[in-house]
Amino acid sequence: MSQSAFVTRFAPSPTGWLHRGHAYSALTAFSAAREAGGRFLLRIEDIDTERCRPHFEQGIYEDLAWLGVGWETPVRRQSEHPQDYAAALDKLRQGGLLYRCFRTRSEVLDEIARAPHGRTRAFRGEPLAAADEAKMIAEGRPFAWRLSLAAAERVLGGFSSLWFEDRGVGPVAADPAITGDVILARKDVGVAYHLAVVVDDALQGVTQVIRGQDLREATHTQRLLQALLELPTPIYQHHRLLLRPDGKRFAKRDAAETLRELRVRGVTPAELREAIERQ
Ligand code: GLU
Repeated sequence: MSQSAFVTRFAPSPTGWLHRGHAYSALTAFSAAREAGGRFLLRIEDIDTERCRPHFEQGIYEDLAWLGVGWETPVRRQSEHPQDYAAALDKLRQGGLLYRCFRTRSEVLDEIARAPHGRTRAFRGEPLAAADEAKMIAEGRPFAWRLSLAAAERVLGGFSSLWFEDRGVGPVAADPAITGDVILARKDVGVAYHLAVVVDDALQGVTQVIRGQDLREATHTQRLLQALLELPTPIYQHHRLLLRPDGKRFAKRDAAETLRELRVRGVTPAELREAIERQ
């Protein structure tokens, strides 16, 4: 296969039917690849096996084909690559960059709410003392592996060298404090979103990440993970989000706006594309 300098991807999670917002995202990335004479990949982000369903994955293939989007095969399905994520987690763990967090979700939210006014709303924690941790583990208490920003800052000597190119915006200094000490693995889900995305984008040779503005904050954390794992940084583009007539974002629960529902109502892909452009 010839190597192309432009490789982009669309990476949906099969936790619901695709809606107009997904169509816009997929079409934006697909058209950019076509215009650049590059490659377009589809990736199925199905690490959260509790929430993912085979019929939604099937729906992704059907809806994208209907839209006129074509992708390379084989499709990378995250659920088939746990060893890749485990290796990355291991590297971070060996580097002292992860810690076990035993706090429940509500404890974390309380902690954030108590943070001094003006501080980011993201969680920052620290490892327990060794004896306390050993006790929690012995008691079988559930925990998540969190990325320690404090450790990352020490390892990298600060974050000032972390930049990413945000197309349409320019070079952006990454600020991992925006998302804080993110969870990178849980007991039930062996790897969390940020880590899987960074590992996959690198393994798949993705040079351009084109995705919605709702993921702009995620880019800051992902840029940090690339530095810690010594992976290349793609160019990013965060496109506008399509909004419903009431100004809210499309959500998977908006049944009437799923691509398959539009298809059943007789909307053609060309009509949908036109409507999206006008929106
Ligand atoms: N799987 C993510 C989602 O469906 C997208 C990940 C990405 O584009 O980086 O929101």
